[in-house]
Formats: sequence, structure tokens, C-alpha cells
Amino acid sequence: MAGVQGQLYLIGLGSNMRHWRIGPPSAVVGKAMAALEDACEVIAASAILRSAPVGPSAREYANAACVVRCALHPPAMLDLLNGIENAFGRRRIGQRWRQRTLDLDILLWSGGAYVDRRLIVPHREMRGRSFVLGPAARIAGTWRDPFTGLSVRHMHARLTKRRPLPR
Ligand code: ATP
Ligand code: MG
Ligand code: MG
Repeated sequence: MAGVQGQLYLIGLGSNMRHWRIGPPSAVVGKAMAALEDACEVIAASAILRSAPVGPSAREYANAACVVRCALHPPAMLDLLNGIENAFGRRRIGQRWRQRTLDLDILLWSGGAYVDRRLIVPHREMRGRSFVLGPAARIAGTWRDPFTGLSVRHMHARLTKRRPLPR
């Protein structure tokens, strides 16, 4: 979907660390949405949800999702997101799941699947994370995973409904 229409992206935003100037994780996520707006057209933005921490970090997590339209192709979009993360003071020490001021992930792209050395779209962990699919389902519920054909709403419902115990 190139040209006048631009590329559409579903972006996942997360924070689990206070920013010395901006404040708590929810404020960081709000500011990050505004920063995205400077570079892209934000078509839809979820509410900012707070959830229990995942992994060894012990703090509250704020999460949100937004749909943006812009001219950038996936590698340039990742550069843009990394630039915003860095501007918010994120430092990469090579470890995932750690405390971070801001995490911006590409969840879905209107062009379908994209894979290179640094980037895998759809995001690999999206399907199993309710803190990602919850906000995403509210703004992009009908968007489908190009690999499974399942909609974001369907993936989210699968996570939240009770499953029978394995035998
Ligand atoms: P997770 O991938 O489990 O959400 P994370 O977001 O904490 O972990 P990061 O430290 O933000 O991980 O990123 C690690 C690397 O993941 C980045 O350097 C980036 O190149 C790569 N990456 C691969 N696919 C994506 C994607 N869809 N969106 C953002 N980054 C991605
Ligand atoms: Mg992430
Ligand atoms: Mg990330």
C-alpha cells in the first residue's frame, strides 16, 4: 500500500520506568504518542492501560497501541521508533524485558509480513500478550495477522477466554 495512501502500521507502546522530567510510565506513553504524531498521521490511538509487570522488572507497565499512516517503509519506520525511544532516554544494554523508559514495537504493517536482520513483522510475541492485544483490539480489531488470518480481536479473545485444561 505505497504512494499517496502511505503505509499503515499498528504500533505497540510500552513503558515501565519513570522519566525524570516527563513522569510516570503512563505520561511517557502519552508523550510518545505525541512524538509519533510529529512524524506520522496518527489515525487511531487506544487509551493508555496500566498492567502488572512481565519478567524480572518489578514496576508497573503502561501500554497503548496506535495506528499510524506514513510514507516510511518498515526499516525506516523501525529507525524512527528507535530514534524516539532514544530521545526518551532509553539505553540498550542488550537485555530484553528490562526496565525501560519507552518501548515502541511494530505489531502489524499494511504490507503484510516483513523480515530482515533487525525486524520481524508481525511482531513475534504479539499473539501471546494481552497487554499488547488488549489496547490493539480496541482500535484495530478487524486487522488480520497475515500468517494466521486471525483478526486482532480474535487473537485477543483467544487469550482471555478460558481454555480447557490439557489432558
Ligand atoms: P520484545 O520483542 O519481546 O517485545 P523488546 O521490545 O523489549 O522485546 P527491544 O529491546 O525493544 O525488545 O528490541 C530488540 C530488537 O528487536 C530491536 O533491536 C529490533 O531490531 C528488533 N525487532 C524485531 N522485530 C521488531 C518489531 N516488529 N518491532 C520492533 N523491534 C523489532
Ligand atoms: Mg517490546
Ligand atoms: Mg521493542
